[in-house]
Amino acid sequence: METAQRIKKLPPYLFAEIDRKMARARAEGVDVISLGIGDPDRPTPTHIIDKLAEEAYNPANHRYPSYEGLREFRAAVAGWYARRFGVELDPDTEVVSLIGSKEGIAHISLCFVDPGDVNLIPDPGYPVYGVGTLFAGGESYRMPLLEKNGYLPQLRDIPAEVAKKARLMFLNYPNNPTGAVADRRFFEEVVAFAREYEIIVCHDAAYSELTFDGYRAPSFLETPGAREVGIEFHSLSKPFNMTGWRIGWAAGNPFVIEALGRIKTNIDSGVFQAIQYAGIEALNGSQESVKEISEVYRRRRDLMVDGLNALGWRLEKPKGTFYLWCPVPAGMTATEFTAMLLEKAGVVVVPGNGYGTYGEGYFRISLCLEEDRIREALRRMEESGIRFNLPTRAAF
Ligand SMILES: *Cc1c(COP(=O)(O)O)cnc(C)c1O
Repeated sequence: METAQRIKKLPPYLFAEIDRKMARARAEGVDVISLGIGDPDRPTPTHIIDKLAEEAYNPANHRYPSYEGLREFRAAVAGWYARRFGVELDPDTEVVSLIGSKEGIAHISLCFVDPGDVNLIPDPGYPVYGVGTLFAGGESYRMPLLEKNGYLPQLRDIPAEVAKKARLMFLNYPNNPTGAVADRRFFEEVVAFAREYEIIVCHDAAYSELTFDGYRAPSFLETPGAREVGIEFHSLSKPFNMTGWRIGWAAGNPFVIEALGRIKTNIDSGVFQAIQYAGIEALNGSQESVKEISEVYRRRRDLMVDGLNALGWRLEKPKGTFYLWCPVPAGMTATEFTAMLLEKAGVVVVPGNGYGTYGEGYFRISLCLEEDRIREALRRMEESGIRFNLPTRAAF
């Protein structure tokens, strides 16, 4: 049998290789500490689970849901955007529910990209932007996210002939994997650029609620003119520890939302309604748990950053996400360093090149693990002599 080109062209799934190495180490009896995958370790808040349990008994929820999502769910999203960002959305035309935002991110290219078209994607970046582009027959133009630019793409560096062919631009702030944030001025630049070249902006705001030290992330949709050029993907996964539930949404430009909804009516049949009711509870209920969840990550962040800096790194504390983006010691590739970390300390992190060419030289730490395990990871690093400024051969 032969697979289609689109499967042959897929990069290997990043975590498959890591999982294999981790399984091998565990089989050898190593107590592996995984700071790899970004998947919240704590449970979903109880009031949300209670709502699911209640709604699961209602036979009305056992039938096919509506494709675009319950009107009440879309209204809850609109209400939350109004309260949180001051953005008024029409739940009938400007919101569509998704089976997790990954689903919408993967499908949006099918709506707007024909073979030969170009999408602008961040590098390093969440791999789904490029995969969705590939499945639609499009090509990815990778926008470098560099430390010296605060991990924001430099729009004026995008060649005009590329920008003219571009259909979608994917952005993601607070950013996975770098932890960087974007301010309103950057979003204004994006709107101007998108207008000039008629590009549809797809902002992925999965981490907007996981921020620290008083910083509150803006929505792209707050930017004047944003709704004329784009949409925002959002999700309950990260702020409410709901990655397994599969519920998110896209909001913004009605033409784009309608196209995404049309693709979806032909591919899936929406989100289990009991989960949508639980999602309404998450959005309309007390937001105390979001604050508590952020506080858990802030403490882990401080512990890890301080610990790594004591080992020679010079990391700043990111304002958002549960990731740390760290340079590897001089003279090593990301793959070499992460392999060494597993071998010597039994600690798993993700090599930055897994997120794109510009991720080489970095590794990503995910803070989805309790503090005692973070302390243990740091202790093992120290014990095995893993520091940022590893002694060079000449120093011996
Ligand atoms: C986790 C994540 C998502 C998607 O999560 P869903 O569970 O599919 O809603 C989207 N974008 C980024 C950058 C993420 O890290």
